[in-house]
Amino acid sequence: MKILVMNCGSSSLKYQLIDMDNEEVLAKGLCERIGIDGSKLTHRPQGKDRYEIEVDMPDHGVAVKLVLEALLDKEHGVIESEYEIGAIGHRVLHGGKEITKSCIVDEHVKDVIRECFDLGPLHNPANLIGIEACEKAMPGKMNVAVFDTSFGMGMEPKAYRYAIPDKYYDEYGVRRYGFHGTSHAFVSKEAIRYLDLDPEKGKVIVCHLGNGASVSASVGGVCVDTSMGLTPLEGLIMGTRSGDVDAAVVQYITNKEGCTVDDTLNILNKKSGMLALSGVSSDFRDIEAAIYNGDEKAAMAMEAYVHRLVKYIGAYHTILKGADALVFTAGVGENGPMVRRMVCEYLEFLGVKIDEEKNKSAFGKQIVLSTEDSSMKVAVIPTNEELAIARDTLSFAEQYR
Ligand code: ADP
Repeated sequence: MKILVMNCGSSSLKYQLIDMDNEEVLAKGLCERIGIDGSKLTHRPQGKDRYEIEVDMPDHGVAVKLVLEALLDKEHGVIESEYEIGAIGHRVLHGGKEITKSCIVDEHVKDVIRECFDLGPLHNPANLIGIEACEKAMPGKMNVAVFDTSFGMGMEPKAYRYAIPDKYYDEYGVRRYGFHGTSHAFVSKEAIRYLDLDPEKGKVIVCHLGNGASVSASVGGVCVDTSMGLTPLEGLIMGTRSGDVDAAVVQYITNKEGCTVDDTLNILNKKSGMLALSGVSSDFRDIEAAIYNGDEKAAMAMEAYVHRLVKYIGAYHTILKGADALVFTAGVGENGPMVRRMVCEYLEFLGVKIDEEKNKSAFGKQIVLSTEDSSMKVAVIPTNEELAIARDTLSFAEQYR
């Protein structure tokens, strides 16, 4: 069966068509600048030339139609009929307190996504628009929503509750949700398989280090704790996000600057993190290059990044009463030997040992970095959120086949 995976942002739409018989990507692509001048579709069919068109896309409905046309096109297409698409899987950011796992989209699920607009103001509205555009363009086709927050719903109250009055949890759902859930779920399960851990009891720490970054602790693939909170701002230092700060920082900056809380949060989300600390860039390639050129600010930013990360790893190692494996994933985790080496050096006192030659050569591939005598397995496992969404979607589609 072929599954279409959709990831809609406010002005973008990323898609992949995956043949689930062999989990091969038949085509993938991106619609950019939806609703803005200069919109463009880039379609990459497997085994055929890349196809790019600049065409007006006033809304997501038009973008979905163009994606379908590209998939069906005689020259650039990969399917002959829309009926070859078994179901559509949608990435959805926030499912609030109610949704704990992926589900077939119905009116109730759409209501929940809508109710969570406040919790995911940049993503949830776009996610819903994408779902509705697909419903319209392909009536009768099964749509499945896969939530970034589902994995975090595995946490117990002791991990997900903030120590604030009940009212805010009961009335507004203020709790820790965690994000990158689809990635953490995929990588922690893959770690259990790849590293031959106990499927029920395997204890894994996953470091998802991309532009956004988070770390999770899980047992048997079930989340015990994860570093992001009510929003993706909490936790690690990220490309442009500050991660953990004293909440009073918001009040202090807001008062000092005479700006609004929203302005201050915008600074913490978009102008902070590695960008602010390094003064160079939010991109680790630029930061590493600056460090090699002797830039002290960039070196301090890297040290701060690793310091925060190992603080979480240490905490999660304790919460798990000893992790079996530490796994790196996403852009920096998969391609950043410097961060991996610096993290593992901190963990040497615990008996963690990695093969530095393997570490230096590990770029975007699945590999065990730890030595035979290491106390904990250390590995790089590339994440694949689209495949995870497609697998969940397939499981529903097969039930109703
Ligand atoms: P997101 O999906 O959150 O946008 P990614 O998972 O694609 O992000 O990760 C982006 C990050 O990965 C960037 O900071 C980029 O610098 C980093 N990255 C990509 N390739 C490399 C590399 N070769 N060395 C170090 N960092 C890299």
